[in-house]
Amino acid sequence: MWKFILFALLFSPMLVRAQASAIPADQEAAHKVVLKNEFVEVMHVTLAPGQSTMLHTHSHDRVAVNLSESTVSEDVPGKRPPRTMVTSAGSFSVQACAKQGCTHRVHNRGKTTFEALDIELLKRPAGPAASPVAAPAAESRSFRVYRWALAPGDSTQEHTHSRPYLIIAATPMQLLMKAPGGRSMDHLVKAGDFHWIDSKVTHILTNNGKESGLIIEVELQ
Ligand SMILES: [Zn+2]
Ligand SMILES: [Zn+2]
Repeated sequence: MWKFILFALLFSPMLVRAQASAIPADQEAAHKVVLKNEFVEVMHVTLAPGQSTMLHTHSHDRVAVNLSESTVSEDVPGKRPPRTMVTSAGSFSVQACAKQGCTHRVHNRGKTTFEALDIELLKRPAGPAASPVAAPAAESRSFRVYRWALAPGDSTQEHTHSRPYLIIAATPMQLLMKAPGGRSMDHLVKAGDFHWIDSKVTHILTNNGKESGLIIEVELQ
């Protein structure tokens, strides 16, 4: 018992200090806020080889979409050893951070620049829940994630988004978006390009180029 108290006295101030020194994710130097509205905050994360973020906290439910092939490790205070991950463009993770916060530090251990888009839910937009537009690649209480891997000439099925969503290019692509009734838009998108849409949309996405491409849609629940 006394040993335990001594242990707690010795180590708890360190733990408190470690937590207190974490800064909010959107104030961390590698995180650049690229969109913030009432509902979402989107940050573009860039880490050069060998570079590390400062200890930071994500305080909202989030989806992190990787845009690069990189080797990174993640330090979570109180958890040893650091976890090493190999990312690829279009791999992603979904994390619930709204209740307790997610505090970590990320190190780029590889030879390529690590790039990711971090999407955080600030507030659920009003309106009823909707059924999935297709089989989600992942789902949480806050998000549905759809992952469209499109070979040259391939199209998604026609689908309707009734909830606000973000469309994200995880790789470069010549992207053709067709709406029923004939309206279509043809864009050369690059990795990390994204768009926030808060109106009801029915569309078909087509890879109109010569290279395979990957589109991620993150829909708010
Ligand atoms: Zn982070
Ligand atoms: Zn869609």
